[in-house]
Amino acid sequence: MSLSSQPRATVHTLGCRLNQAESQLLRDRLEREGYTVVPWGQPADLGIINTCTVTREADAKCRKTIRQFIQRNPHAFTAVIGCYSQMGAKAIAEIEGVDLIVGNQDKLSVIEHARLGKSERPVILRERISAADFAITFVGDLPSTLRANLKIQDGCDFYCSFCIIPTARGRARSRDWENTLAEARELAANGVREVVLTGVNIGTYHSQGHDLVALVDALDTIEGLDRVRISSIEPTTVELALLDRMADPAHALVPYLHLPLQSGSDPVLQRMRRKYSVAEYAAFVAEARRRVPDLCLGTDILVGSDGETAAHFQETCDFFWQQPFAYCHVFPYSEREGTLAVKRQRNDPACVVPVEERQQRVARLRRLSAAKRHDYDAGYLGETVEILVEQPRDGLWPGYTANYVRVLAQADASFGDLRNQLVRVRLERLSADFAEGTVVEVVGRPVAAAV
Ligand code: SF4
Repeated sequence: MSLSSQPRATVHTLGCRLNQAESQLLRDRLEREGYTVVPWGQPADLGIINTCTVTREADAKCRKTIRQFIQRNPHAFTAVIGCYSQMGAKAIAEIEGVDLIVGNQDKLSVIEHARLGKSERPVILRERISAADFAITFVGDLPSTLRANLKIQDGCDFYCSFCIIPTARGRARSRDWENTLAEARELAANGVREVVLTGVNIGTYHSQGHDLVALVDALDTIEGLDRVRISSIEPTTVELALLDRMADPAHALVPYLHLPLQSGSDPVLQRMRRKYSVAEYAAFVAEARRRVPDLCLGTDILVGSDGETAAHFQETCDFFWQQPFAYCHVFPYSEREGTLAVKRQRNDPACVVPVEERQQRVARLRRLSAAKRHDYDAGYLGETVEILVEQPRDGLWPGYTANYVRVLAQADASFGDLRNQLVRVRLERLSADFAEGTVVEVVGRPVAAAV
């Protein structure tokens, strides 16, 4: 333990937004339990590493992170939780110094288990993941970050051929309706103005007769909550009513759709067991753009999956380039034991795309994505846009528009502290990472006060 009376704890997150949301819940609970939560990298008495197993690289990164923590904090209690704990507990247990390994079912109770103290051998808690809907005990009276993740769902029943998530996170299940809204109200009461809805397959949300459309409508009525963002949603699960909410400027749901494509080639989509064809995806995008003209459309693409030829990949590049995407997140295919794709590869090694080829394809698509992102941001130059301001950096004010233009603004000192304010910014130029401009008005504040 540290010399200070309060033990110090630190939480590190690998992987998705859902993990980030869960890690934030843990940080809040740790504070409530009397720990001082310190940033990752500072000495700590308790380290919790929330892991990811989406690729082999993710597994390796988890192991490296665990080792680094133990090396820097040899006397600390080291707990490893999350998807890699669920799937790779044996490999984690081989790392000297690990005290506790908790799978996904029990990950949020890691603090209680950590109280047991260090032991000779790591304790492994890996229960069968329940298929039941769930509620989360949250801590409502602590200051939160100004843009908060709100976990509403977990698990997936789609079983795409390359994906280990249904095994690692279990069946699709939803967070209890009242429990979800109660946390959203607490977040808003603590000053949070934007929530990002997180889950594995959010479009399947269903609790006590309420679907996702009902949920965003209920969130829309919460005082102080200006923006609701859906982190990512499967193409076949988006209700048209959701698009209409995005199109309504008075509704809190922002015009942002991250719609995983995975491939722009039908044979590959079929092998992946995705639930749509390229033409169906394109038709949906056209409808979404028709209903929501200001929409930011982003996507995920998986390259080098089994059986993806150079011609298939070219189709994906062409489709990505032709469609109105603002960006894509590109992932190289990675073999995950237990998936249909790996079984297929065993039977037919010729379908395996070499790792170097996967990397070259990733690099090419990332270049296309950067060009798209540049064009998307450039389309707003000369306009005045509204951003929600985040933490200042070097005297400038960063923030996102509702439709996800990344803005960095300068402001006259007379505007004062702009953190967590909605401000209007005139966009003047592009830098590598931002559309840059000048604050012209704080929304809801008389213009004269700013002069
Ligand atoms: S929809 Fe497919 S890719 Fe997404 S979590 Fe479910 S199985 Fe995995």
